[in-house]
Amino acid sequence: MSIVVFEKITEVRTWSERIGASDLSVGFVPTMGALHEGHISLIDRAKGECDRVIVSIFVNPTQFNNSSDLANYPRTYDRDLKLLTDAGCDVLFFPSVAEIYPKPEKRHWDFGLLSNSLEGFFRPGHFDGMLTVVYKLLEIVRPQRAYFGEKDFQQLSLIRAMVQQEQIPVEIVGCPIIRESDGLAMSSRNMRLTPDERQQALAINRVLYYILTAIDQSDPSELSVRGFELLTKSAGLRPEYFTIVNARTFEPLATWPTNDDSVALVAAYVGEIRLIDNMVIKKKALSES
Ligand code: AMP
Repeated sequence: MSIVVFEKITEVRTWSERIGASDLSVGFVPTMGALHEGHISLIDRAKGECDRVIVSIFVNPTQFNNSSDLANYPRTYDRDLKLLTDAGCDVLFFPSVAEIYPKPEKRHWDFGLLSNSLEGFFRPGHFDGMLTVVYKLLEIVRPQRAYFGEKDFQQLSLIRAMVQQEQIPVEIVGCPIIRESDGLAMSSRNMRLTPDERQQALAINRVLYYILTAIDQSDPSELSVRGFELLTKSAGLRPEYFTIVNARTFEPLATWPTNDDSVALVAAYVGEIRLIDNMVIKKKALSES
């Protein structure tokens, strides 16, 4: 079956209501396009769990705190449409900026460390823009389930918090990070890396894996410092942060928690491109060590 493309909110609402009236479930995968296997993994998961799957492509201007990042964000519509068709996606929602924002709009949410630390600190306004658009998209599509990647770990945690606070009737499904065969986390921004930068970027996941091998011998505060130092010494990399926090509360950790998972989170520039990655350290892995 071929994919249907909607550009209007009313078309999506009508479609979603019709699916709901037939007692079928809708799975929703919001994206900013320039699709890769990470996005496709979310769609595959949604297809396995829902009767119909809708993907949105919307490069949301209000979540970019850097205008050149927005201007240079890759846009590959024809390729995306083919990938979505091949993946068996039912509907693509491809709205204009005016369709989503008839007037300027940015709500503010405060979830303490979850919204104010790390990405919240280094990208002021980013999370308010992201949550505003996710809130609006969920309200338009009204899916039973919405799928997000753990690649954006802090984003996923915030979306869960926002959905709970706003009492939106949707199940948020988190999906594992998909990596290239050499370990680099897939990202639309990777296509902007030069071949040299692409090689230099590998230090990010190398340091994350190294830290994982050292959790038995060191506490998280030591490893946070060591991870940051290793990134600083890596050719071509300018890290903004490397830190290990409680995966639920985002509190920086002095010692390994016994009741919660931990997560090592990193953001680093490679040339002009800002990349993020992370690795969850399960409490089970810790208690076994
Ligand atoms: P984006 O288009 O970058 O806004 O991403 C759309 C969704 O795909 C978000 O939920 C991301 O977390 C998810 N995503 C992006 N890259 C990956 C990846 N490498 N593995 C898994 N999910 C990803």
